[in-house]
Amino acid sequence: MTQYVYRFGGGVSDGGRGDKNLLGGKGANLAEMASIGLPVPPGFTISTEMCTRYYEEGQAFPDSLRAEVANGIAHIEGITGKRFGDAADPLLVSVRSGARVSMPGMMDTVLNLGLNDETVVGLATVSGDERFAWDSYRRFIQMYSDVVLELDHGRFEEALEIAKEDNGHYLDTDLTADDWKRLVDEYKSIVQELWGKPFPQDVHDQLWGAVGAVFGSWQSERAKVYRKLNNIPGDWGTAVNVQAMVFGNMGDTSATGVAFTRDPSTGDAAYYGEFLINAQGEDVVAGIRTPQYLTRAARETAGAKPMSMEEAMPETYAELASVFDLLERHYRDMQDIEFTVERAKLWMLQTRSGKRTAKAALKIAVDMANDGLITREEAVARVDPSALDQLLHPTLDPAAPRDVLTKGLPASPGAASGAVVFDADTAERRAELGEAVILVRIETSPEDIHGMHAARGILTARGGMTSHAAVVARGMGRPCVSGAGTLSINPRERRFTVGGREVREGDILTIDGATGEVMLGAVPTVQPELAGDFGTLMEWADQVRRLKVRTNAETPLDCRTARDFGAEGIGLCRTEHMFFESSRITSVRQMILAEDEKGRRAALDKLLPEQRADFIEIFEVMAGLPVTIRLLDPPLHEFLPHEEAEFAEVAEAAGVGIETLKRRASELHEVNPMLGHRGCRLGVSYPEIYEMQARAIFEAAIEVAVKSGAAPIPEVMIPLVATRRELELMKAVVDQAAQAVFAEKGRTVEYLVGTMIELPRAALKAREIAEIGEFFSFGTNDLTQTTLGVSRDDAARFLGTYVDKGIYARDPFVSLDIEGVGELIEIAAERGRATRPDIKLGICGEHGGDPASIAFCETIGLDYVSASPYRVPIARLAAAQAALKGRG
Ligand code: PEP
Ligand code: MG
Repeated sequence: MTQYVYRFGGGVSDGGRGDKNLLGGKGANLAEMASIGLPVPPGFTISTEMCTRYYEEGQAFPDSLRAEVANGIAHIEGITGKRFGDAADPLLVSVRSGARVSMPGMMDTVLNLGLNDETVVGLATVSGDERFAWDSYRRFIQMYSDVVLELDHGRFEEALEIAKEDNGHYLDTDLTADDWKRLVDEYKSIVQELWGKPFPQDVHDQLWGAVGAVFGSWQSERAKVYRKLNNIPGDWGTAVNVQAMVFGNMGDTSATGVAFTRDPSTGDAAYYGEFLINAQGEDVVAGIRTPQYLTRAARETAGAKPMSMEEAMPETYAELASVFDLLERHYRDMQDIEFTVERAKLWMLQTRSGKRTAKAALKIAVDMANDGLITREEAVARVDPSALDQLLHPTLDPAAPRDVLTKGLPASPGAASGAVVFDADTAERRAELGEAVILVRIETSPEDIHGMHAARGILTARGGMTSHAAVVARGMGRPCVSGAGTLSINPRERRFTVGGREVREGDILTIDGATGEVMLGAVPTVQPELAGDFGTLMEWADQVRRLKVRTNAETPLDCRTARDFGAEGIGLCRTEHMFFESSRITSVRQMILAEDEKGRRAALDKLLPEQRADFIEIFEVMAGLPVTIRLLDPPLHEFLPHEEAEFAEVAEAAGVGIETLKRRASELHEVNPMLGHRGCRLGVSYPEIYEMQARAIFEAAIEVAVKSGAAPIPEVMIPLVATRRELELMKAVVDQAAQAVFAEKGRTVEYLVGTMIELPRAALKAREIAEIGEFFSFGTNDLTQTTLGVSRDDAARFLGTYVDKGIYARDPFVSLDIEGVGELIEIAAERGRATRPDIKLGICGEHGGDPASIAFCETIGLDYVSASPYRVPIARLAAAQAALKGRG
């Protein structure tokens, strides 16, 4: 029979950290902490397999589970000496969800389960604290009603506010036992009214209700949204953790807190966290009371008055600090920890790898490798390549003037500007229309996740550094300023005020998540520095990487940026981009609209010196590195004039009438230009275009070779080839131009002529095409378009649905369809190599910067990937990780 319940605590650990899939992250780590002798309240975990079975059996539990859970409860009873439901000395438990990866969106926590009208009296007696007992009971009713019964939590909060006001109190801690007793009565009548039944008094009913709610929450809308955003499979399921309660709210020697073993924003090796005296765990994250700092240093830096834990509870703090060190060494990673102090006794409630910003991830990986805790290769493997994106983008220009409205907590670094919106749906809607938005909330909750994702940045009035907003924003890589307490937000009227000034929906705001500053208007940005830890990790990555990384670039500026980012050549220079410049577009139009070769040549003669100048600049920047230049590719209509004035300009340049030009333009119209007269088809029809481009390339190469002494290595690439013959014809044009230039100049340069593989026919006929082509570069944008028969320009409208329905796991224009398009690439690589064993193979579609696609390129042994300049570092790291994976 399958075992579903796994115990921990009191010297027993049925599981361990290796069991995350089965026990969820929380359960596995609780078992692990118990097994290494840390003080963990005893408990048990109901496995994720039960979650799967629960859904398979129509949301019901098998009978065998009841016996197993009873055993689990007995285990806790045996260690604590208390009994579940015992009116004299009741055992209370917490019930928490816990999937393989932490997942906001699911039912989180129910505390104090096991309290009812009788056991609350027992708790008051044994604790000697009646106020505490009734406060615990009202908290339990409130939480249970919210997360298990799903009743409107506003009603309970309202009742609490009224109770406080009636008694003239400001803080929860000011309320007396009798106040809480009255509130419990009030709460029970709210439950009766909203739920139609009395609050459950049977502790076993309470427990099964909570367990069912945890499993039920796995399929909640919020959880589904979160899974989708984070690519988490729906069949993983969640585990349920049932654990003896310990109390941080038993007076001033009790406390509860959350901590990171290092700073999750910067990666600095300093304990980082918050705690509250005389409070239960939820108080810290909920932002109801403002938490205190953990360390004295952090308190002093912040200029805060309330004592830090280090000062208020020095002995327990010292014990906690030694647990931090132990856990870091044990897990060999930065940990995110929850703890409670009950009457000066420390209890560990959770540990897991802490979410961190890209900057912190880099620093922690590099520091840990330098300290010998992990190897350099592990450091390389640990940093998520996509997260580097956060570091590669501009930060606020320190010299730019800024109109600072207020300052909150620097909860997640990065700067963002955008229009203010006050709810998640609006954020999503406006972002879909291409607008940059800043989501401004009093505080965020899991319901806001889609809006947080859509927003450029998040600003909250409440909540600390470990609030929902802060944690989620850091995980998503969104800049966030939290706890900006001076904001007075009125979401209904869609405005907030601060320092006597008003900001309305749509006004532009800038937030700086690294300093906590909130500014009115957009503040200009500057390029980031890429030295330090970034440079170190990249160096380590380069030591293990096999794939070369090139860039897709055509302007000298892009080429230089890419070189600074470590590009080892150009994998794709799209020459048509150079044709759009205002100084040459008229000549380009003249060429396109010419009636005959003579007319075209006249225009091409004007373009030749311009193209040559482009290539000289690029060759100079890329000195000594390979540069792949693709000859003209796009459908010609992209260049056609539209305005009357544009026609007039071309008419004058070409010396023909406007009407003639218009007729010619309409002749060039195509129904489906993407599959029309483009790519090498242009070169086949008008060889003089490719001839001019080839001439410009070789003249430039020789000029740079003469000037600098280092000859560039041009790789001339023919686009959209489907057949051997096309490539043969085009290669002849290029070779003739080369010979002509070499003869004129009296010197030669080395060069290659190759082709893009971006049509299925080319992939299949690679054996023959490789007889002519000296290299292949996979143009996976067009190859995806033509293999799937999906227009790359129109796909966005329906591909989202395709991904939702699991037809494609991810957008195939973003992450390579390895199964389909990938198979064609494999075939082409194999057949190409069969003809020409040393054929150079690369990829230059957008996929060249996508980590999953890069991993595939490594497995089939391509020579290089080519990515846009800002993705070059991502590609370097992804290529290194792929190489490490290959070694196993
Ligand atoms: C491609 O098709 O993948 C490619 C790189 O060319 P383009 O995007 O210019 O069509
Ligand atoms: Mg293409």
